[in-house]
Amino acid sequence: SPAGGRPDVIVVGGGIGGLSAAFALARQGLRVRVLERAKEFGEVGAGLQIAPNCTRILAEYGLLEEARTLGVVPENMVMRDALDARELTRLDLRDLERRYGFPYMVIHRSDLHGIFLRACERAGVELLTDRTVVDYEHTDGGARVRLEDGSTEEAPLVVAADGLHSVARRTLVGDDVVSSDYVAYRAAVPIERVRDNGIAEKDVTVYVGPRCHFVQYALRGGDMFNQVAVFQSPKALAGRDDWGTPDELDAAFGATCDTVRKGIPLMWRDRWWQMLDRDPVETWVHGRIALLGDAAHPPLQYMAQGAIMAIEDGWVLARHHALRAGAAPAGGRPDWDAVLTAYEAVRVEHCRRVQTTARAWGELWHLDGEPRLRRNAIMRARDTYDYSFTDWVYGPTALTPDEEPPMFTPIPLSSADIGEQEAEPET
Ligand code: FAD
Repeated sequence: SPAGGRPDVIVVGGGIGGLSAAFALARQGLRVRVLERAKEFGEVGAGLQIAPNCTRILAEYGLLEEARTLGVVPENMVMRDALDARELTRLDLRDLERRYGFPYMVIHRSDLHGIFLRACERAGVELLTDRTVVDYEHTDGGARVRLEDGSTEEAPLVVAADGLHSVARRTLVGDDVVSSDYVAYRAAVPIERVRDNGIAEKDVTVYVGPRCHFVQYALRGGDMFNQVAVFQSPKALAGRDDWGTPDELDAAFGATCDTVRKGIPLMWRDRWWQMLDRDPVETWVHGRIALLGDAAHPPLQYMAQGAIMAIEDGWVLARHHALRAGAAPAGGRPDWDAVLTAYEAVRVEHCRRVQTTARAWGELWHLDGEPRLRRNAIMRARDTYDYSFTDWVYGPTALTPDEEPPMFTPIPLSSADIGEQEAEPET
């Protein structure tokens, strides 16, 4: 066991981002130590959609088969109007898998987290819980973290994967989270409880409606059913601190179609997630401290790319290490500065695009009145097999800026733009 010796890399935070980065680096023979605040490693929440840009990386890590066993490969992703339930557009996920070479899957968050945890154990990552990092310092040739108990640890590289409310982000960047005034409720229930609700068991279904949306898909080999209910909180708009409470949930979905309304009583009511993100920042690397995952680029979740971007970050970091380790003299130290420059050069821009597109998707999904009808007409006109708006996300993760595909937005994404277009009559 490497315990006690000085690690090559300290990873702060053992969420999906931290563990996947730790695994990616340990696979290259680096000594990696993870410091996690919680008493035990784990994940809260329910389902996670993982697109081909993530399953491609899982395959490279040798973890895709385990993910397939634990997850579900749905047949379609269908978007419907939440009020009248009409189909707006769909992705054929079997065809999508052929196009990108890897599946679009859904998996329980704790299952994906568990896959990375076990992979880290096998790779010899030192996994330490009950370690809260409260401060960061630069050292000669590395960085140091200070823990709550006053002790310190240092390494040539510190990866801060401490999530949305990152201490590293606060210390190094100092910006605030941005509230969207939307809140998410989640639930994963035995599938028997929803069979009579008009659900599509083999699909991911997204119902988009005025100031709300609702997502459904089966999990755990089809035994469980995952639901996410997201809505704009009137209390948030009124400037209250206690916003997004369960009393607002029922009111928000009152006018939606049967299938959505039947799903609402099943939502967990003891926990909810205020939808926060941050404005993109250009600098994720400060000396030998690198932000990763939500600490670097927390998105609104409308593109379902948050955890995926975190996994991509670790993959890119490790690949750039591998490229340079090959060139280093035997036993030589990796040129972390060059690795971190390369990491930042490609990841900042990609994640900025996803973050800003996610905000725009949110606006589009939540339209009301005439703009809603115009949006529906535009979406219904989309060809199921037109991949121009997924290619820039689901294709292979870029290692360098010139590999990054051009961003594509096929439909005007802001409500203002939509408002300027002629509506097609409802048919
Ligand atoms: P986290 O998961 O937040 O992990 C941070 C870890 O750091 C935690 O374990 C925490 O305990 C630890 N930590 C925090 N502070 C400290 C400290 N000071 N010292 C030590 N440890 C610390 N993404 C997708 O890809 N697909 C989806 O379908 C999807 N759906 C979503 C649905 C909802 C409703 C929400 C809210 C998010 C969704 N996301 C999705 C986004 C995804 O959940 C996040 O982007 C992802 O979990 C971020 O991982 P992370 O490891 O960076 O951060």
